[in-house]
Amino acid sequence: MSPASAWPWDRCQVCVSVAEADLEAVAARLAGLMGADLVEVRLDALDPPVGLETARLAALVAGSPVPVGFTLRPEWEGGGYRGGEDERCRRLANAAAAGAAFIDIELDAEWAAELVGSSPCPVIVSHHFGRPRPDDLEGRVEQLLRLRPSLAKLVAPAERPADALPLLAAARRLIAEGQPAACFCMGEAGRASRLIAIGQGAGLVYAAAEAGREVAAGQWPLAELTDRLRVRGWPRDAGLCGLIGHPIDHSLSPAIFNAVFQERGRGLAYLPLPGAELTPVMDLVEAVGFVGLSVTMPFKEQMAGRCAELDALAAATEAVNTVVARPSGGWAGFNTDGIAVVEALAARRQIDGATIAIVGAGGAGRAAAVALAAAGGEVTVLNRTAARAEEVAELAGATAGPIETLRERRFDVIINATPVGMQAAGAGGPRTGAPRGAEAGGPRPGAPRRTEAGGERVAGQSGTPFPTNWLAGSEVVFDMVYWPRITPLLAAADARGCATIEGLEMFVRQAAVQYGLFTGEPADRPLVSLRATAVQVLDDDR
Ligand code: NAP
Repeated sequence: MSPASAWPWDRCQVCVSVAEADLEAVAARLAGLMGADLVEVRLDALDPPVGLETARLAALVAGSPVPVGFTLRPEWEGGGYRGGEDERCRRLANAAAAGAAFIDIELDAEWAAELVGSSPCPVIVSHHFGRPRPDDLEGRVEQLLRLRPSLAKLVAPAERPADALPLLAAARRLIAEGQPAACFCMGEAGRASRLIAIGQGAGLVYAAAEAGREVAAGQWPLAELTDRLRVRGWPRDAGLCGLIGHPIDHSLSPAIFNAVFQERGRGLAYLPLPGAELTPVMDLVEAVGFVGLSVTMPFKEQMAGRCAELDALAAATEAVNTVVARPSGGWAGFNTDGIAVVEALAARRQIDGATIAIVGAGGAGRAAAVALAAAGGEVTVLNRTAARAEEVAELAGATAGPIETLRERRFDVIINATPVGMQAAGAGGPRTGAPRGAEAGGPRPGAPRRTEAGGERVAGQSGTPFPTNWLAGSEVVFDMVYWPRITPLLAAADARGCATIEGLEMFVRQAAVQYGLFTGEPADRPLVSLRATAVQVLDDDR
């Protein structure tokens, strides 16, 4: 058997899958994919499968701004091609001869070894398992190691995130034996595995051209991988950090952490870990061995219960927004929101002795009340629901009252810890749902876009949390909401002569403390970089 062409790329290639019904539509799509490293054209999606002569494919390749590879997936592997196997082999050989960057064939094709040995371009040899946790995985790995294709690909559906563990282990073995590989799970439950595979040294990751154009269930959009997650800069064998919460589709954290990790050469990658339930995601995270996690709604309390130790604020509030793996096992839990509020306010005025009204008594209000009272502030918790205000006030050693207190009493500082003023904009998020091996998927019904703050996504509410003519003009007004950066409350406060603090300042400061916890360098807080990236992402989203 002749050796396959070597897989020519060192770092993981971001490959956009394109499935269109005719070659003109394929060509039009290729023209808009400048940001991809590779494009995979699903020839089996053509309807009818015409236009596969070498000259037409060569013209397509020559006209593409991105190197093009081809697949002609048969029905028996979940694809759309219904013709004979000899004809399929001939068409793929034509595609290879047309200047393709690669062809992708099936491990079970009778002529797989023939094409691996004769193709002028790299050959990906794939196997798509029909069900999660396949029992013939080891046998498939052995087959691939005998065949030695340019890149070995194993894919299975996932019912839960930890279903990916055997495939990720298979990839580690293949890569350790010098065989370039890409092994991951499909489906919503497999989304994290696609990212973990990159961190392990996968040769390729499939991407959707954009959200809503997924060709296989669970693909990440191209811009998400390249611009926000910056996967091209992830080192091989990266230490993994991540974000757990639900929903987290538009979180700022992956963008700012990946930017700062790479800027500082930390050898870490930061992954969004989607999932509506905590335990299935943690089963994967704990088996893979993450360095640390940001924790957001609705898992802050549940995650605190899984920690072997808690810092003082996390213990007092029974909620964590950060966990770090302990050398001795288990998680250490932290709440960095309180430090962030204190630091952001202390940068503007003295806290000790200041009268501080916190409007809102949810998780963020609770952390702020405890931390500011501990820093010497004279805290009053004002909330719509009186019982909640009283509970937080008791916890913090503060006083409680209704929001209307602001009409009668002047405070040095007023902090909005409600979601009032958030802007809910647009729609978005990943789409799911494709058969195995098939590049298909439909848009998820448009979930409303949530606005995020502190990694938390809470439905936005317009307006201000209290009438702004209650402001005297001499207060410091601090809004935890950061989308929009200048909320209606901050705009009105500024117009009345108040000093103002944006929620973004709190967000980047809590992220900076997390950075210290993840990297073990608490004194080294890259505030400027975090702030610059956060501002850039928010501006891009505008
Ligand atoms: P939460 O636990 O859901 O609490 C929300 C609080 O807001 C509750 O006290 C609720 O009052 C009150 N509230 C909601 N709607 C209201 C309305 N229309 N009028 C008056 N009060 C209202 O939320 P959270 O986690 O504390 O977060 C609060 C805000 O802070 C969110 O906007 C979040 O994004 C932001 N935040 C920002 C950062 C950051 O880094 N900048 C960090 C964390 C949180 P009831 O008790 O009466 O329901």
